[in-house]
Amino acid sequence: MIRTALASSLKRGYSTTPLISAAKPVNGFVGAIGNTPLIRLNQVSEETGCNIYAKAEFMNPGGSVKDRAALFVVKDAEEQGLIKPGGTVVEGTAGNTGIGLAHVCRAKGYKCVIYMPNTQSQEKIDLLRMLGAEVYPVPAVAFENPDNYNHQAARHAKSLENAVWTNQFDNTANRRAHIETTGPEIWQQLDGNVDGFTCATGTGGTLAGIARFLKEKSQGKTKIFLADPPGSVLYSFIKSGGKLNERGGSSITEGIGQGRVTDNLQPDIKLIDDALQIPDTDSLRMVYRLLDEEGIYVGASSALNVVAAVEMAKKLGPGKNIVTILCDGAYRYQSRLFSKKWIESKGLSDAIPEHLKKYATL
Ligand code: PMP
Repeated sequence: MIRTALASSLKRGYSTTPLISAAKPVNGFVGAIGNTPLIRLNQVSEETGCNIYAKAEFMNPGGSVKDRAALFVVKDAEEQGLIKPGGTVVEGTAGNTGIGLAHVCRAKGYKCVIYMPNTQSQEKIDLLRMLGAEVYPVPAVAFENPDNYNHQAARHAKSLENAVWTNQFDNTANRRAHIETTGPEIWQQLDGNVDGFTCATGTGGTLAGIARFLKEKSQGKTKIFLADPPGSVLYSFIKSGGKLNERGGSSITEGIGQGRVTDNLQPDIKLIDDALQIPDTDSLRMVYRLLDEEGIYVGASSALNVVAAVEMAKKLGPGKNIVTILCDGAYRYQSRLFSKKWIESKGLSDAIPEHLKKYATL
C-alpha cells in the first residue's frame, strides 16, 4: 500500500494517498521521547533465516536510548520532592544519560552537572556543553575508588541546595522506563511474537526492564541473552552461575560493560537465559556493515547488539523474531570509529574488510 502510493507519486510527481500513518502531536521535548521505530535489518535477517529487528533508539529526541531513563529519573526525583523548580540535577554518566538529562533539564528549567570518565569521546563532552551542562571529565577509576565519577557526582549534589544525584546505576526508576515504555512498544510492534531479546548493559536498565516486561507477557517464552563487551564481568558472572570476577581488559565500545551487578540488574538477573561475549573486531565490523548494507549509522554498542542478535538467531534456529537495540548514532563517536589512525591505534585495522575501508574517511 505504502509502496504502491510511493511508486505512483514518483510517476505522477505527487500523490494524495497518505504514505505514512502520522503520529499525533506531543507535548514538548519530553513528549517526543519513546515510540521509536522497530527496523527489520534485512541483510542479517536473510543470512540467519530469522527476522532480526532493531529498536531505533537513536531516533529519540536527545539521540539515544538513555533519553527514556533520563526522563524517568527526573520525574521520580520530582515526585519524591527531591528537587524543586530551579534546582540542579547531577549525574555520573558515560555521556548519553547526561545528554538526555541536559535536554530534559533545559526543557524543565533545571541546571545540569555531569561527571564522566575522561576516556569517553570528545563529541559527547562537546554536545553536553552545547546543551548548557557543566561537565567534569575525571580519571576513569573503578567504582570502589571514592574518586570514581559516580561518587564525585554524589558529593557534588550533596554540596548544593536543591540538587539531586539521579544515580542511574542504582536508581530503579531507570529500569522502570523500559518496563513501562520500551518493553510494551516492542511487544505491540511485533503483536507479541518476540522469540528472543538481547542487548548489552551499562546500568542494566534497558536489558532488565525489557526482560521483565517480555518475560511476563510471554509467560517466560521469550528468551533473554545478555551481550557483553570484553573487560566486563557480567558474561562470566552469568556463565559461572554467579561468580563475580575482577574486571580486566578493555573495549572500544562506550557506555556498556560493567564491573558489578547494579540495583537495576539485580532483581531481573535470574530472567537472563544466556550470555554472549562479543569481541571488538566483530562490533567494529558491524558498525561498517550496518552503514554499508542498511544505511544505518550507529555507534559500537548498537553494532555489538546486532552481532549478539545474529549469534542468538544461530542458537535459537531459523524462523524466529529476535529483537535488539540501536542505542545511539555514530555521530557521537565518528572522530574515533571513522578515523583510520584511531582504528590502527587500537590494532583493529583488520576488523574492517577491504570493501568497507572506504568509509573510514576521517
Ligand atoms: N549503549 C550506549 C551507547 C550507552 O550510552 C548506554 C548507557 N550507558 C548503553 C548502551 C546501555 O544502556 P543501559 O544503561 O540501559 O544498560
